[in-house]
Amino acid sequence: MANLVCPQCGSTKLRRSHARGVVEQLKRSLGWQGFRCRNQMCDWRGMIWVEFGSATSKYARYAFLIVAFILLLFLSARFVLFLTEGR
Ligand SMILES: [Zn+2]
Repeated sequence: MANLVCPQCGSTKLRRSHARGVVEQLKRSLGWQGFRCRNQMCDWRGMIWVEFGSATSKYARYAFLIVAFILLLFLSARFVLFLTEGR
């Protein structure tokens, strides 16, 4: 994992926190990870986008590929339709 820093105080002492609520769980499945700053003066809590390569976003990557494939099929079908109707 790349060096993660607190966006508020710049400390690298971050610890993972559990996702709260539906929105955070959804973001977590897309590669975000909940963190909390261990600097007691700061006490920042939020989500940082980790990366696509992490284990938590493995399914998100598959979902992205499937969506991209369907979109490509849809667009090529539209293009063929456009070509055949143009005549
Ligand atoms: Zn902080």
